[in-house]
Amino acid sequence: MALRTLILDFDGTCTDVPATHQRFLDETFRVYSAAYPMVTLERWERALTAVRAAAPDAAWMLAKVPAAPSGADPYVLAGEAISFLNREDGRRDPQPDFFTEPYKLAEAPFRPELVSVLEAADAMDLAIHFISNSDTKKIAGRLDSLLADKPALRAKIKVEGNAAKFSVMELPWDQTFPQWLRQRFERLPAEAARRLSRPIYLRRGSYMRALGTVWGDDDYGPSSTLVCGDIWELDLALPDALGCAVHLIERAPPYFTYAYELDAMTAARRGSSSYDLNGLLARLRRELASS
Ligand SMILES: [Mg+2]
Repeated sequence: MALRTLILDFDGTCTDVPATHQRFLDETFRVYSAAYPMVTLERWERALTAVRAAAPDAAWMLAKVPAAPSGADPYVLAGEAISFLNREDGRRDPQPDFFTEPYKLAEAPFRPELVSVLEAADAMDLAIHFISNSDTKKIAGRLDSLLADKPALRAKIKVEGNAAKFSVMELPWDQTFPQWLRQRFERLPAEAARRLSRPIYLRRGSYMRALGTVWGDDDYGPSSTLVCGDIWELDLALPDALGCAVHLIERAPPYFTYAYELDAMTAARRGSSSYDLNGLLARLRRELASS
């Protein structure tokens, strides 16, 4: 099936996260320790080290079920370090938001090749969509600035933010979805092939809902779509199970891609990976040349 749609993750896939990760971690420590002064820098650093060491078997537990490896990026790492310290201190009280301000202050720059890749994908007549956990307005605003001198291209790019790919849940029974989409979801197994001491869950109803907004009534949507992300479990495991082509952007240090992610990409029916978005472009060219 010829490719018609490109779906991109945002953070880490289109941005250079390591460039500003230390600032993000420092700012998160500042905000968190202002709320809880008993958390010293030494304890914070020990928590980061412990969470990193426990990954990838330890997971991002934001939604109470494992959603991604706990050391996959500074956002997940900081969240799990805070959970670790909260448990250590016996804190159960509602937690304020520790992340919005650090995320803003430590804005990760776009990957330098992003614009040329978007232009090439558009020239290939692919519909371009972003699906991300980050806020829709935030991503849209950053794309507005990035493509300020290319308004025709910007107008074609759609953004589905707040996708909550970490939510392992069924499709809400009381919402209307195209029948084909609900059936595809219902046929999914609960978990992908076991590669860790914990399950890697596939039935991510919130992510499926975001994918559904891209595909609508088109039941050829999955087979004509390539999804590109930087965390296999969070971004690509579900699309792979649905029959999409998938491309993994391998993470740079200190958030190296784990061996199990590369094994999963090797096992994927239509998988590939690269260190940057130029590798995605090469994959798109190969797909279109063979169709
Ligand atoms: Mg990402």
